[in-house]
Amino acid sequence: MIQEKLRLLQSGKLTAEQNIKSFIDKIKKQDKNINSFIEVNKNAVQEAKELDKKKKKGRLFGLAIAVKSNICVKGLLTSCGSKTLSNFYSPYDADVIKKIKQEDGIIIGMMNMDEFAAGSTGESSFYGPTKNPVALDRVPGGSSSGSAASVAADFCDLSLGSDTGGSIRTPASHCGLVGIKPSYGRVSRYGLIDLSMSLDQIGVFSKDVYGSALLLNIIAGRSENDPITFDNEVEDYHIEIDKVSSDLTIGISKNFNDLCQDKRILELINKKIDEFSKKYKYQKKEVDLEYVKLAVQTYYPLVYVEFFSSTRKFDGRKYGFKIEENCGEEVLRRILGGKEISKAEHKGRYYRQALATKNLIKNDFDNAFKKVDFIISPVVPKLPNKTTKKITDPKEMYAYDAFTIPSNLAGNCASVINIGRIENVPVGLQVICPSFKESLMFNVLHKFEMLK
Ligand code: GLN
Repeated sequence: MIQEKLRLLQSGKLTAEQNIKSFIDKIKKQDKNINSFIEVNKNAVQEAKELDKKKKKGRLFGLAIAVKSNICVKGLLTSCGSKTLSNFYSPYDADVIKKIKQEDGIIIGMMNMDEFAAGSTGESSFYGPTKNPVALDRVPGGSSSGSAASVAADFCDLSLGSDTGGSIRTPASHCGLVGIKPSYGRVSRYGLIDLSMSLDQIGVFSKDVYGSALLLNIIAGRSENDPITFDNEVEDYHIEIDKVSSDLTIGISKNFNDLCQDKRILELINKKIDEFSKKYKYQKKEVDLEYVKLAVQTYYPLVYVEFFSSTRKFDGRKYGFKIEENCGEEVLRRILGGKEISKAEHKGRYYRQALATKNLIKNDFDNAFKKVDFIISPVVPKLPNKTTKKITDPKEMYAYDAFTIPSNLAGNCASVINIGRIENVPVGLQVICPSFKESLMFNVLHKFEMLK
């Protein structure tokens, strides 16, 4: 779909202005019900007009890209879905935004999200909850709720989100999209307002695999601004998605499957894996991921501590308003929890213990990837909650990410593709690959896409 749209834009059969205008009209009419945008870029049409005058067209020419509100876009409201930053108009572009603009992509707006990316359902924004456009009585998933909902509702071509423990993959699953969490270090985090700096990655949403592959190819790579980015060559994922890879081995893990609360999800996934392995003649192998059961307990102390530390700058002097006086319940819980864990009297004990378990989980994956090329698992242990049934127990909310958090802890790349519906609600499947094997990952995703 994106490839076709780009052909039209590149050939001039569709102008950037026409593309952007049609989205803006649709947003004006329909986003009231979805609440995916916090701010629509009021200069977008003008920017498109300017682009249409250009002779040499960039690789994202005229495409509308929606951006999660924790990624800085110069002049736009980078609120993180919080009252704390509800007056923060970013003075600069994040690295990823610079790259998108260089390739003539147009930022169509800033998207709704769980406050400071701390959530799984898209309900905790200061700007109100986001609705799921493909299952209106269900949550869209979070925290990148607006980024997912806007692609699903056809309010933009592609979008950016961030994923610390599942915030791209969960809403991608609930909204029926492709969602990519790149390897840790693949994409510059410069200009991303962090939830947990040792786990955060910016990633992408799209309707088709090609769209995600193209956008990731553009935003990936080494940046002087982010010391964790690597020089690893960035392949042309979007060009190579249908390169044939033969002789691959699929990993499946009982340790993962045991955590799935809704057995219908497992059945659907197993059915897909069977179809997939038969069609492409891939072997299946069981892998032992003993420690993934501890992922949720390992993740939260790390996030609490890093979030506490990174929010010390929100004291109301330089940016926005004092966070403790303006944030919601979950954000406050993390700040207070992080403050407690960081106390000198604990001598870093909890943080260090979490780091040690993080390593065990990473080792599990490293060993598994000696036997298999990629691992398949569910994305979320159950269907998205009904909007009328709010999750109030934090432990229940945290358990939402049991399948997604392990890849953030291990630094792997991981992704989601839709495989069908249960009770008419979209269900995704997760493809996890070793670090920096995005090319392989897109290849596998494309093969799932071709099964449909
Ligand atoms: N739901 C997880 C959390 O609340 C993940 C969030 C994310 O990936 N940004 O921390």
